[in-house]
Amino acid sequence: MSHVSSHHHDVVIIGGGGAGLRAAIAIAEENPDFSVACVSKVYPMRSHTVTAEGGAAAVIKDNDSLEDHIYDTVSGADWLADQDAVEYFVNRAPEEMIQLEHWGCPWSRRPDGTVQVRPFGGMKIERTWFAADKTGFHMLHSLFQTTLKYGNIVRYDEHFATKLLLDDEGRCRGCAAIELRTGTVRAVLGKSVIICTGGAGKAFPFTTNGAIKTGDGMAMAYRAGVALKDMEFIQYHPTGLPGTGILITEASRGEGGILVNRDGRRYLQDYDLGQPLEVDDPRHPQTRTMELGPRDKLSQCFIKEMWAGRTIKTKDGDAVHLDLRHLGEKKIDKRIPFVRELARSYAGIDPVYQPIPVRPVVHYVMGGIDVDSDSATNIPGLYAAGECACVSINGANRLGSNSLTELLVFGGQAGTHAARFAMDHPDYDVSGLVAQADDERDRIRRTYFSSPAKSGGERIAVLRKELHDSMEEGAGIYRDADSLEATCNKIAELWERYANIALDDHTNSFNTELTAALELSSLLDVAQSMAHSAMERTESRGSHQRLDHPERNDDDFLAHSLAFHREDGSAPRIEYSPVTITKWPPGARTYGADSGLKRE
Ligand SMILES: Cc1cc2nc3c(=O)[nH]c(=O)nc-3n(C[C@H](O)[C@H](O)[C@H](O)COP(=O)(O)OP(=O)(O)OC[C@H]3O[C@@H](n4cnc5c(N)ncnc54)[C@H](O)[C@@H]3O)c2cc1C
Repeated sequence: MSHVSSHHHDVVIIGGGGAGLRAAIAIAEENPDFSVACVSKVYPMRSHTVTAEGGAAAVIKDNDSLEDHIYDTVSGADWLADQDAVEYFVNRAPEEMIQLEHWGCPWSRRPDGTVQVRPFGGMKIERTWFAADKTGFHMLHSLFQTTLKYGNIVRYDEHFATKLLLDDEGRCRGCAAIELRTGTVRAVLGKSVIICTGGAGKAFPFTTNGAIKTGDGMAMAYRAGVALKDMEFIQYHPTGLPGTGILITEASRGEGGILVNRDGRRYLQDYDLGQPLEVDDPRHPQTRTMELGPRDKLSQCFIKEMWAGRTIKTKDGDAVHLDLRHLGEKKIDKRIPFVRELARSYAGIDPVYQPIPVRPVVHYVMGGIDVDSDSATNIPGLYAAGECACVSINGANRLGSNSLTELLVFGGQAGTHAARFAMDHPDYDVSGLVAQADDERDRIRRTYFSSPAKSGGERIAVLRKELHDSMEEGAGIYRDADSLEATCNKIAELWERYANIALDDHTNSFNTELTAALELSSLLDVAQSMAHSAMERTESRGSHQRLDHPERNDDDFLAHSLAFHREDGSAPRIEYSPVTITKWPPGARTYGADSGLKRE
């Protein structure tokens, strides 16, 4: 691992996915003279945004309203979202979506040329824009190609950021990052920094998330002193393929797909999610009802069906059936062609002729880096946006299709604020920051390369598997004090054993064993914050369901949890901060017949 080199910019973005690229464009527009660094551990077009299928929500129809989108988001979040942030998000969303079209995003259209929208879970009207079922692919392409027109956006592709660099006054001024091709550690410096590193689904074994979603940015901010907010709220998506965890998008239910149990019954009707309509009824699928209920409730219904013995046994565990056959080949091929492709390739099922076996799968982390409504953290000059951040619009349960829009709205906002901070705080001491990057390189060398005594020590894959098993077992869809305590203890044990991991590969170029070790340390930090935050929240709300505390408790827990890192690696300190309520006081969260519909 060679010497540290330093690179000087105005703003540094860590992450080249949707949020990172949107932030880069905002900075370039805010100050065309600014140099913007975009550090990404993978080539930007391989960022996870590219996999998003279903769509992005924003009010566009004449009979929709901003107020309804706010209400759906707030009630979907089980009232844990900050309503000022939700209002800002919903108000900005349509403008961002139209802007993205001007940058080249090919939104699907109606025959009359207007934007086509589809229903999505928990939304009371069709407001999800889509590009067939490759929405994330087209969105990321549009953002990426737009960044190319700005000569002042400098990319550090395949650079793995490991540490934030803070100046003497405690302002964030850059990061240390390993160039994966050479092993060189670089100090990538700027006057402000934005973290856009995506989610952390890889803390669990069975997830729609790819290998890169290991919570690195969350862990970096956490270690630097920023709280991780609401980490106990983990979203299970109700329709993943058993075995692989590959997502079958909610768009398949938005287009009319139904869920049935072993007996062919549309079992969601048994769990207060409304009454089914016939699939050929023109009013099917009904919004905020049955298959278009929210993800947390649908995933919980699956577990209850499994406990009742009404699920289908497959070689990869229990499943229910997602039946699309009534949609017909023409509609499937036009509206959800990727679903057909995925089901054929990975389950050997052609959904035109057979139902698809599905089960809940970890999909999204509602919590993340604690930021205020300007996307700023408590460290001056440090911002965060996208899935790694918790602003919070998702609260205890995110509504499908709000996340792609979130990365546009808050990526743009973080970019603007970080650019302004950089203009207001231009001066810092470079040498101190380079010295920190030097120390970071030495730490990596010492920890992972320089200890022959560790040969024969712990293996990364073994620790990761034990972490996975413990998270699924103890902190899954249903939890209680005993299961969470066991998970907290296991993570503490894994941290101790992590000190003895042995790496066989000490080379510099594309050392995937080293990156796996670094990612495992991120996962351990993030998982520890999840398990302890879940342990402390003795109520059930949204995706956090405690068997020993089954009711929502607004008196004590209408509050965000904040997990603070401790230097000695022991359990995080948990505090709480109030939820911002503007116009929508907490109410019953109802779907189906009484679905909170306020309009005809
Ligand atoms: C299969 C799937 C389908 C989905 N479908 C939808 C949908 O239809 N609608 C919707 O609203 N949401 C959907 N989501 C959620 C949504 O796609 C994501 O939340 C969103 O795209 C995240 O964007 P992001 O920019 O925050 O992060 P990402 O796109 O994940 O980008 C993260 C970036 O950070 C970089 N990075 C991470 N760690 C480091 C490090 N240590 N050093 C340097 N760089 C680093 C990565 O290289 C990457 O460039 C889906 C998610 C999945 C998994």
